[in-house]
Amino acid sequence: MPADLKYRRVLLKISGEALLGDREYGQDPSVVGRIADEVRQVHALGVEICMVIGGGNIFRGLAGAANGIERATADYMGMLATVINSLAMQSALERLGVTTRVLSAISMQAVCEPYIRRRAIRHMEKGRAVIFAAGTGNPFFTTDTAAALRASEMGCDALLKGTKVDGVYSADPKKVRNAERYDRLTYLEVLSRDLQVMDAAAISLARENRIPILVFSIQESGGFADVVTGRGRFTVITEESAVLNRFVASKEPGGPKP
Ligand code: UDP
Repeated sequence: MPADLKYRRVLLKISGEALLGDREYGQDPSVVGRIADEVRQVHALGVEICMVIGGGNIFRGLAGAANGIERATADYMGMLATVINSLAMQSALERLGVTTRVLSAISMQAVCEPYIRRRAIRHMEKGRAVIFAAGTGNPFFTTDTAAALRASEMGCDALLKGTKVDGVYSADPKKVRNAERYDRLTYLEVLSRDLQVMDAAAISLARENRIPILVFSIQESGGFADVVTGRGRFTVITEESAVLNRFVASKEPGGPKP
């Protein structure tokens, strides 16, 4: 592993909405291409990459259920939306020369491979990017939970969540002017303060498997590579408490470091 790399294998989660651009529905091909280029840069550093892409730009189970579709059926429709996004990302990555495999939790042989854990690991070892489609394959879950699940199964060193902002805030910084930004949080702080990073099931799974979650902006050019090399701006969520860190630092000779 090259010296300045902090992570050998990572999972990148992006929401379906990240693919919208200025549209209200579907994908903006230029946005898909730009995110694919972010992935290409990190792949070129020698990091093994897998991805989970949401489906909210096309269909959300809850919205379908609100319109009278049975919830489980609506969730399957949402899962199919993630397959569409995954295929678009595969195409964009391969245009940039990154060999990519889509592995779906719901098998559809003619379209992509079925999800097989060992096969996914083998693909990454061979230098292929892997996209996990169809979430967990189960209704009543989200692609955030799928991301935490696959990151755990793949033995990823970190789960990176690419969002519209550069970390976790106390409230939506695009709506609330004085929202506080956090550099570090614990899994428990995210859960107890009900911070809208990922759903509780995803946070708990990452916590149980000790996978740090790094929240960063996928809209900054080169942002993904910066985070992977430890330079970028992000919020890190781990078991360690910032309060505890400050306490330990204050006991060090010379007091806390700035
Ligand atoms: N979904 C599901 N099970 C999963 C993952 C996703 O049923 O394991 C469905 C659910 O209906 C969800 C939709 O797929 O609303 C799209 O996923 P999500 O809302 O997580 O996408 P994002 O918000 O990340 O774009």
